Amino acid sequence: MSSLPAYQNLTLLPIAGQWREGTSGRTLDVADPFTGDTLLSLPMAGREDLDEAYRGARDAQPEWAAMGPTARGDVMRRAVALFDARKDEITGWLVREAGSTRIKAEIEWGSARAITQEAASLPGRMHGRILPTDVPGKESFVYRQPLGVVGVISPWNFPLHLSARSVAPALALGNAVVVKPASDTPVSGGLLLARLFEEAGLPAGVLSVVVGAGSDIGDAFVEHPIPSFVSFTGSTAVGRNIGRIASGGEHLKHVALELGGNSPFVVLADADVEAAVDAAVVGKFLHQGQICMAINRIIVEAPLVEAFTQRFVERVRVLPCGDPGKPETVIGPVINDQQLAGLKDRIARARQEGARVLLGGEPQGNVMPPHVFGDVTAEMGIAREEIFGPLVSIQSARDAEHALELANRSEYGLSSAVFTRDLSRGVQFAQRLRAGMTHVNDMPVNDEANAPFGGEKNSGIGRFNGDWAIEEFTTDHWITVQSVPRGYPF
Ligand code: NAD
Repeated sequence: MSSLPAYQNLTLLPIAGQWREGTSGRTLDVADPFTGDTLLSLPMAGREDLDEAYRGARDAQPEWAAMGPTARGDVMRRAVALFDARKDEITGWLVREAGSTRIKAEIEWGSARAITQEAASLPGRMHGRILPTDVPGKESFVYRQPLGVVGVISPWNFPLHLSARSVAPALALGNAVVVKPASDTPVSGGLLLARLFEEAGLPAGVLSVVVGAGSDIGDAFVEHPIPSFVSFTGSTAVGRNIGRIASGGEHLKHVALELGGNSPFVVLADADVEAAVDAAVVGKFLHQGQICMAINRIIVEAPLVEAFTQRFVERVRVLPCGDPGKPETVIGPVINDQQLAGLKDRIARARQEGARVLLGGEPQGNVMPPHVFGDVTAEMGIAREEIFGPLVSIQSARDAEHALELANRSEYGLSSAVFTRDLSRGVQFAQRLRAGMTHVNDMPVNDEANAPFGGEKNSGIGRFNGDWAIEEFTTDHWITVQSVPRGYPF
């Protein structure tokens, strides 16, 4: 247990170096998704707060960037120590505010910590280059520089991890950041990180958090002239709009879009069924399936469909559902009533379209029991659309080629997995999957602080983590020096 007192005054927003209330005149009630209790009522930020946050970031950034790589790395290292000292406090918020089970909260805490630890190494890895040149007497340098001010928009499902994934590397590389967390998770998606980095020694104003409705300050957040880069993680529909604004508005800027998924989980006929079932249960039901990389479609080669389905349903039937605060719970609540209503609608449509319910049940409060559908075809909504909940479909493939075709039949291309005992066949299969990430003999839910995270097709643009974060959160500046007079053509 930590001896540090828990962070207080979490209704205040850090804006341009001051902790104060948002001035939109509206209040956000943040609820525990399991109990429905209000955790806090927070005055939301409006456009003036947003403007102040961006101006504060612009003013604070040059001095922060000028601090050497060791000093910026030290802030990250102290933040890692605070992740450790405040582990119970942080995971407690993830359980209460995001409806995370204890298992998921620990995983999320661990990945946010790992990202921050990796970020500590980034300032020292921000290399430039010296290029050969055809011009006599010229020196040709490429300087790698921070972007300046970065805007970060994050979702509610892994709020701490997905905010930290942009905030920590962007800061470490010398940028200032303004974060807009999702309205369901303002504490774990932004305010905790701001308190933690402040305690770790981040100078005032370098990190601001604006809590406000996406529909209210979302466009202004992207359109604003100060940020030169917006890192968005969320749905494909909202991401498309952000891409349009960033590339078609008055102030052009780069964007990274980390969007929805529809991960296929392919089981080839030579797979170890028990190992595949183990991976599928976790890859589908961790955080009640509310993960962009979660398994959406299980595709099994015909000879194994019956054996796989029987064993999978047996395992899923006994997953403990209910209070996310109990250590044994695997399926906790979905985030809010709207998500629950969406899942009920999908279940009704899947039945209408002819899918067979192999496992079902009625929700208790916001806890939706796991649903498994058999006899699913690629045309059904349950196979085509991102589910983001504890529902899964099983499709039968005639052979491996058909399995590949079914797996690729999606507008999305984020993560994916294939099970086979033949590892080289697995890699060949993986290479033909159109996805940013494929795991052979593992679940598609995988993220590591030094490996490239990102998607193809409508799953997004850009890559996170490690060297790829350096690419995302810095820019190249080509500078030449002509040391002898050069001959010009006229
Ligand atoms: P969402 O798109 O509704 O919201 C994401 C964020 O965008 C929130 O902070 C929200 O307030 C904000 N927002 C909403 N409207 C906006 C607007 N008009 N302008 C600017 N910002 C706006 O997504 P969600 O429901 O919070 O999260 C679920 C989705 O996120 C799923 O589709 C999931 O696959 C995706 N996701 C992707 C990744 C990834 O890394 N690829 C990770 C997690 C979640």
